[in-house]
Amino acid sequence: MGNNIDKTTLIIGGGPAGLEAARVLGQAGYPVVLVEKEQQVGGVLTQLSSSFPRWEDPMKHVDMRMQEIQKYPNVRIMLKNKVVDCEKLNDGYKVQLQNDSGKKEEIIANAVIIATGFELMDVSNYGEYGYGTLPNVLNSLEFEAMLKEWSAGNKPAIEKPVVAFFKCVGSRDRTKGYPYCSKICCMYSAKQAGMVQDLLPEAKSYVFYMDYRASGKEYEEFVRSVIEDKHVRYVRGRPSKVFSENGRLLIRAEDTLMGVPVEVRADYIVLAAAIRPSQGTIEMSKLFNLPTDQYGFVEPQKLETVKVVERVFMAGSCGFAVETIGALQQGGAAAAQVMALLNQAG
Ligand SMILES: Cc1cc2nc3c(=O)[nH]c(=O)nc-3n(C[C@H](O)[C@H](O)[C@H](O)COP(=O)(O)OP(=O)(O)OC[C@H]3O[C@@H](n4cnc5c(N)ncnc54)[C@H](O)[C@@H]3O)c2cc1C
Ligand code: SF4
Repeated sequence: MGNNIDKTTLIIGGGPAGLEAARVLGQAGYPVVLVEKEQQVGGVLTQLSSSFPRWEDPMKHVDMRMQEIQKYPNVRIMLKNKVVDCEKLNDGYKVQLQNDSGKKEEIIANAVIIATGFELMDVSNYGEYGYGTLPNVLNSLEFEAMLKEWSAGNKPAIEKPVVAFFKCVGSRDRTKGYPYCSKICCMYSAKQAGMVQDLLPEAKSYVFYMDYRASGKEYEEFVRSVIEDKHVRYVRGRPSKVFSENGRLLIRAEDTLMGVPVEVRADYIVLAAAIRPSQGTIEMSKLFNLPTDQYGFVEPQKLETVKVVERVFMAGSCGFAVETIGALQQGGAAAAQVMALLNQAG
């Protein structure tokens, strides 16, 4: 085994995946530079109101890790920074970083972990649902922001709102979206509907679904409790169109279990938009010349590993849709593989 504990790992992206990788490497004494383009770490978790499957504060995962990381002088976090250039060397990469005021810095990275995450598809091409044209038709992250407001005590002006959730918008749709299932939206739609009922007990929530996928530890129980204890109504069917009617939103759909057309008048519609690779994931894949799948997600060498190419690893949703626990686990796995590499490398 070599003695390469002085070799630096560059982590790109400070969401849960990148933070967990930094925590594990930091604890083991390896030098780490974590580059985050925003002014805070946490990734999408900073935008969430609560977290399935245990109704936890999503920032708990971030705060716990940051408290630990701050104890490790070998971990440097560079906010508002991006990687703008890289050159392959025999034992790593020469990388140019640039902050948002244009200041540049060069580092040598002996290993790289890509943790640049995902984003939501733009659902305005689902014109029939009125996103971007009708008020109060939101995507799921915009609704998380609204839930945060409601949780903070800023309740909606409408006393007993009706909230309708449309699942699989842009996912499992070969014509206008992506053929894949985005994996996390069955769960977060249940969470959001359950939160509406908790925060506004007089509200009504409908979830329109084709089917629901709750295959994870405690997931089925979570959705069941939302339906049975919080009285969220699940309607099997795909809404065909949303109309504006006297300041409200009229949803036409077919209940495919009952075989009857249904109409629901709602105050808010939440579209569970497909996930796709973030802009940062696409940019970093090009810069480091990484293999990607046909949608732009980073492709590991084998599906069961987090290694992408020599000295480059991936973690979290830059590879595909993953829930927070999965992102954390992949961050830990990438850190372990980096340590194995650096301990072997000359
Ligand atoms: C509406 C919604 C609700 C959700 N609810 C839950 C829930 O209740 N429970 C749950 O388990 N999961 C939930 N999730 C999923 C959760 O958000 C993800 O599992 C998690 O955010 C993935 O973490 P990540 O680190 O892979 O990516 P991200 O959170 O996307 O973090 C990536 C980070 O990389 C940074 N970055 C990107 N490009 C660059 C670059 N070029 N240079 C530097 N930094 C860059 C970004 O700014 C970001 O900080 C939800 C997702 C959505 C959309
Ligand atoms: S996770 Fe659920 S809502 Fe999301 S695409 Fe898959 S089936 Fe549809």
